[in-house]
Amino acid sequence: MSKVYFLETDLKTFEREPKMLVNFLDKTELFSLIKNKSLVGIKMHFGEDKNKGYLKPHYIKGLVEKIKRLGANPFLFDTNTLYRGKRTNSVDHFNLAFFGHNFKTLNIPLIIGGGLKSKEYIEVDVSGKHFKKAKITSLLRDVDVVLVLSHLTGHMLTGFGAAIKNLGMGCASRAGKMEQHCEVSPSVRHDICVKCKKCISTCLAEAISLKEDKILIDKAKCTGCAQCISECPKGAIKIAWSEDYALMQEKMVEYAKAACDLCGLKFFVNFSLFVTEECDCMSKEGSPAALDSGILASVDPLSLDKASVDLAIAKNKKDIFKDMHSEVDYSSQFKYAEDIGLGEIDYVLEKVSYEKRT
Ligand code: SF4
Ligand code: SF4
Repeated sequence: MSKVYFLETDLKTFEREPKMLVNFLDKTELFSLIKNKSLVGIKMHFGEDKNKGYLKPHYIKGLVEKIKRLGANPFLFDTNTLYRGKRTNSVDHFNLAFFGHNFKTLNIPLIIGGGLKSKEYIEVDVSGKHFKKAKITSLLRDVDVVLVLSHLTGHMLTGFGAAIKNLGMGCASRAGKMEQHCEVSPSVRHDICVKCKKCISTCLAEAISLKEDKILIDKAKCTGCAQCISECPKGAIKIAWSEDYALMQEKMVEYAKAACDLCGLKFFVNFSLFVTEECDCMSKEGSPAALDSGILASVDPLSLDKASVDLAIAKNKKDIFKDMHSEVDYSSQFKYAEDIGLGEIDYVLEKVSYEKRT
């Protein structure tokens, strides 16, 4: 059974105590993994424009300083989104995170992995039920220690999102995100298409053409790279989002396993604070939909997510994730993750208390 460390707290207390996170992580294995001159990649979700739930830079200021004191080189990273928004290409994404959401205050580099338009990835063997190879951002391969910081939230497709989602979806290339989300090629909404032909020049597979005054996608040629979706100025190219929640979760778990296999040393921290009904990809403020449990940490992303969900349910005295998204059975995610060796469902909880030093 994997060990999961847990510090019970709420957001107000956490924000009042800037030393709390490092004090907690001092009791875990994290800092023993970090050596002098290590490249430490901190995987985060910087929040969509107008979102207020994402993990804020000041939460981790002390942690970044501690990593620097150990002689290592920390940097922040994420990948671009599949859908159109303020995080679709690396320039917009960087501007939003670094300047808009103030990650510049951490005084460390912030890298959006996978190239300017998320075309760069490595194919990683996964040999799962759904994929033989996963398209993972190449950046992960060269990082000495990957520290995955995740905000626990509800999620309309996976029931909840935390470390597994941050790995599986968050480290995938755009094409990788696309193949997790849907079975079929994108389609064109002819009512809003203005026939600018930008999609035709974008599509390297030559799958898009203008025929009889209509933009058409040849599904036989489409490779599912998803570039046309982000390039269309009118948002006329749509994804057929999967409604098979169990299938989507299994695909995400296979991607999480591939991302984990590509990393060297890794460590995971979940923040069960300001738990919103939807994830931080939502371009809206969001309000807490549950009571805070605290902060959890582990080397095992599966144990960590299972413990985070269990503790949130215990704290709120009901299955908040089932209440938020009753149509999704998120337990399938845990079972499949254990089946393919991502980690262990059973865990040992080690409760840690905050030792306030003056
Ligand atoms: S890029 Fe969009 S608006 Fe332009 S032709 Fe293609 S689908 Fe139509
Ligand atoms: S998803 Fe990629 S390959 Fe398919 S039509 Fe769009 S640009 Fe072309």
